[in-house]
Amino acid sequence: MSESTTKDWSDVIGHQQQRDWFAASLSQGRFSGSMLFVGSPGSGKRTVARLLAKTLLCETVPAKDMAPCGTCPSCTQVQAGNHPDLIHVSKPADKSSLPLEKLIGPPENRMQEGFCYDIQLKPMIGTRKVAILEDADFLEKEGANCLLKTLEEPPADTVIMLIGTVEQKQLPTIRSRCKIIRFSLGNENAKKLLRQVHQVEASDDELQNAIETSGGDMHVAQRLLDSEANQFRDALINQLNAEHPDPIKISQLLTKHCDQAGKEARKRRHALRDAVAIALQFFRRKARDAAYSEQFESLTMARLDRSVRAVRELERNANQATLIDCFAADIAAGITGDRGGIG
Ligand SMILES: [Zn+2]
Repeated sequence: MSESTTKDWSDVIGHQQQRDWFAASLSQGRFSGSMLFVGSPGSGKRTVARLLAKTLLCETVPAKDMAPCGTCPSCTQVQAGNHPDLIHVSKPADKSSLPLEKLIGPPENRMQEGFCYDIQLKPMIGTRKVAILEDADFLEKEGANCLLKTLEEPPADTVIMLIGTVEQKQLPTIRSRCKIIRFSLGNENAKKLLRQVHQVEASDDELQNAIETSGGDMHVAQRLLDSEANQFRDALINQLNAEHPDPIKISQLLTKHCDQAGKEARKRRHALRDAVAIALQFFRRKARDAAYSEQFESLTMARLDRSVRAVRELERNANQATLIDCFAADIAAGITGDRGGIG
């Protein structure tokens, strides 16, 4: 059962509160306007958004029943991703932000195409339109500003869902125009999702460890759980835990791990982020243990600080080879790597 084949609300793992809220609002007949879905990557926001779209557009079962039939033309079209009244935009994998033209059309056709234009058109089948904007974290200021009017005054009966990870990544003007729906899986549901949806076979402890290391990001947790990743984690932790970590060995390990991810920049970045997440979690635990035994380990604190810095460097798309070498050298030396720059 993958995300795209989740057909029923009963297939959704967790998020009961959110579902109850949708059901209550639908039965009171006041369900329109703009929502911002936030929560860790892979927690099921997109699945819920698609199901909600299907529920709202189904031609045979009233939306308030929260049980789309799955067989009417509308349900079939939502499942196939080609329903004319379901508008959907997302960031292309090779772009670093949501292109403006996806929102308001290309320069030669401004406001004649795109998300904000499509939403104003009359519904073709039923009485309402549904719009899903994925990757809302990657809206740039100009794009976000174009959305404001649409979010504030969507056409009657239109439902807009923006999907991001944390509300802080949105401009205050966007946040204030949306009802914020927060998604959080919790440990048990995260384990269930990894086992049932992603077919991960691992012990409870291994799952727990991966979930903690990933900070709740289910895509990262999944990558951490494959067997090659386990070998890599053990080798890296071995180095991090050595009395005198060897910068060259750390650098080689990280480089090899990135190389194994292939040539694609996005995959290599993910691989390095996973490695940094492992280091971060390792030093965090070590610092916590030291604190409990009332010791202060300045080396561990400096290394923890250095790992946090590496996460930020990755977010800013720092050069990978440089990042690996500096990170390995600083971790080995037990220094924070603070060179006066931001973060
Ligand atoms: Zn239907």
